[in-house]
Amino acid sequence: MVIRRTRATTSKSSGVTPNEVESELTCYCGLRSPLLIAKTKKNAGRRFYGCAKFDGPGCCNFFMWVDQKIPDQARDMIVELLERNQALSESSQSRCNDDYVSSLIAKMKAQKAKNGLLKEELARVKKGKMLYQLGFFLCMCYIIMGIIFNVKASEKFLSLP
Ligand SMILES: [Zn+2]
Repeated sequence: MVIRRTRATTSKSSGVTPNEVESELTCYCGLRSPLLIAKTKKNAGRRFYGCAKFDGPGCCNFFMWVDQKIPDQARDMIVELLERNQALSESSQSRCNDDYVSSLIAKMKAQKAKNGLLKEELARVKKGKMLYQLGFFLCMCYIIMGIIFNVKASEKFLSLP
């Protein structure tokens, strides 16, 4: 085991829990071993030193209990509190999701309003285009009629003796 010193102090520093006991223990990886709190039903709330990569990839399985075995009654209480805490954090999570959904709905409504404005604009542009085409058509008719009448008039003129 790679224990440099087993002395534990009660100074506050980086770590897992507010009442953390900082150790100078190192796990087999050569990293400082953090003080962790068991969350299993059998040992709920019991503190232990674990590998710095505890429960993760490359964990060296270093493990050492800090607390004596907790009385069953206290352990059951801790389990119940942990479960309640879990339920609370889940309900707050779902509330966050509700907020997210309502913000999406608000965005969708804004987008719909924008789409309506764009449709109106498109209809206006189409109307303008139609008027332009009608005007162009009438102009062309006028020019063609003019040409036809001119030709007929000149034919009359030419047919005269
Ligand atoms: Zn390790």
